[in-house]
Amino acid sequence: MKEFEQFKKIIQEKKSFILTTHVNPDADAIGAELALYYLLERNGKNVRIINHSPTPYYLEFLDHDNVIEQYSSDKHDEVIVNSDVHIFLDLNQLNRVVKMENVFRSNYKIKICIDHHQDPENFADLLIDDIQYTSTGEIIYDFIKFSRLTAIDNKVALCIYAAIMTDTGSFRFERTNSKTHLIAAELLKYDLEPREVYNQIYEQAPISRQKLLGRALNTLTLSRSGKIGYMLITQKDIKETGANESDVDGFVGYCLAMKDVKIGILFYELPNGFKMSFRSIGNISASKLASEFGGGGHFHASGARLYDADYQQYIIKVIDTAEKYVA
Ligand code: 5GP
Ligand code: MN
Repeated sequence: MKEFEQFKKIIQEKKSFILTTHVNPDADAIGAELALYYLLERNGKNVRIINHSPTPYYLEFLDHDNVIEQYSSDKHDEVIVNSDVHIFLDLNQLNRVVKMENVFRSNYKIKICIDHHQDPENFADLLIDDIQYTSTGEIIYDFIKFSRLTAIDNKVALCIYAAIMTDTGSFRFERTNSKTHLIAAELLKYDLEPREVYNQIYEQAPISRQKLLGRALNTLTLSRSGKIGYMLITQKDIKETGANESDVDGFVGYCLAMKDVKIGILFYELPNGFKMSFRSIGNISASKLASEFGGGGHFHASGARLYDADYQQYIIKVIDTAEKYVA
């Protein structure tokens, strides 16, 4: 891949690197960042991972060296401005870094985007993206093999395994193929237990999350056609259960997992707006639906965030729009 060639050259020529990922990061985001961090660090590079959001509690085990920093403009703008290369992982629209968007847009440095979502924004000097990949972690795996800039070891194997496991829905989504399993087979030669990784990520929830799920399920509604399932979480639910935004990961699946339902939507009220998670099946494009509201993502899993907007004024409009996709 000529992009890998170019990426390797940039790594060899430049000294300092900032890695970042999207708001509310998942295991692919964190795993890909850390795997690339180790590669760069081992090549003597000056590298920092600076993220908009904190690492969710269930992913802290991936960052056992505690290298991920949470962005604050006082602390980080200067180091961002003074670094040679900015690398964006698991996102392809710069607004996905929210409060960091401005400092990245207004300071010209080499920008590299490494991602596997649909419809990239044209902001990067080097775009390494392919929607055939299960995960950004898998792209990093291929780059490690291609570049030979580091060896896989226990730490890197764990990060990449967690990225692939979660972004394939534990090896069941459609992009899962024999290559995915061959990579997993190699990673399992290192010191990691599938059962243990799954348990860390999916089975360590605080009770607040399960209580929040109960509330969300209570709001579950079918649209007129019966083909759209949706639910709502408000800030009141968050406050009263003591849960937080990262606890909601996976909830939208319940909207879709019903007979005849083709689109699932989760509405989540933010302190300053709201976000939507979309899931679809068959030939229905969730990313296209999300793009109607300024968002994006994958064909079957997408989202959108609207700031300074009230979800109550949007629900009917969103459901009506989604009805067109299932008609
Ligand atoms: P989730 O519903 O799990 O938060 O996100 C599902 C997918 O949609 C993820 O792959 C994520 O990258 C994408 N996505 C979620 N929210 C947004 C958004 O506001 N903008 C864009 N472009 N993609 C999003
Ligand atoms: Mn991903």
